[in-house]
Amino acid sequence: MDEDCIFCKIFAGSIPSKKIYEDEDVIAFFDIKPMAKVHFLIVPKLHVPSLKECDASHQALLGKMLLLVPKLAEAQGLAGFKTLINTGREGGQEVFHLHIHVFGGGPAGS
Ligand code: AMP
Ligand code: ZN
Repeated sequence: MDEDCIFCKIFAGSIPSKKIYEDEDVIAFFDIKPMAKVHFLIVPKLHVPSLKECDASHQALLGKMLLLVPKLAEAQGLAGFKTLINTGREGGQEVFHLHIHVFGGGPAGS
């Protein structure tokens, strides 16, 4: 738990979110500024800033997050989807708590 982190605040319940999945390790919720008709984030409850800080101790967690992608996409009615992990400021990352973006259903607003 990082007290300055938006995603940690979402798990703690102090910032609201449109949650679609939660278990002991992971949470998934819709992105607040969707870039596709369906756009959600899969986020570990452990505060890890980005993929760069991951090591072998995170292997099972990363595998779990990746395997959740098709399950949650199917639950959202998506036959196919795109995934994205922005890493580091130069990689377009804005929230420094590891997350996988999942996009589907075509561009937002189309
Ligand atoms: P990234 O650039 O990969 O760090 O993406 C961070 C994402 O988090 C952006 O797509 C934001 O729209 C999204 N985001 C920021 N704050 C919230 C929030 N409170 N609830 C849901 N999504 C958020
Ligand atoms: Zn965090």
